[in-house]
Amino acid sequence: MSETIFSKIIRKEIPADIVFESEDVIAFRDINPKAPVHILIIPKVEIPSVTKINSKEHSELLGKLFDAVNSIAHKLEVDSDGFRLVINSGDNGGQEVKHLHIHLLGGRKMNWPPG
Ligand code: AMP
Repeated sequence: MSETIFSKIIRKEIPADIVFESEDVIAFRDINPKAPVHILIIPKVEIPSVTKINSKEHSELLGKLFDAVNSIAHKLEVDSDGFRLVINSGDNGGQEVKHLHIHLLGGRKMNWPPG
């Protein structure tokens, strides 16, 4: 599997505006934000997409990703008004970076359905 730009962010080889980091998870501001708060939450281990997740290997990591979501939402003060989580998968899903990531979008009212 070829690595992505997110691996370089994890290794601190390129800059990112990091808002959360733990042993297994890192989160940083999206470079092209679609909302006042737009954070990408990623596992440090390279999982190319949601289709490669399974409960046997990843249940603990998934819990940690959602712990990070809640911690960040609280820290950036979008927890009370609400926010949206998005995981794009594959070409039709609009996934550009093949390293699993959760988009956290907040700070404005979201539209439904998404485009
Ligand atoms: P997706 O289309 O779901 O794969 O989302 C990839 C996201 O990564 C996009 O929203 C990009 O703006 C964002 N992105 C790409 N490169 C960087 C970077 N170097 N730092 C922060 N965000 C990035």
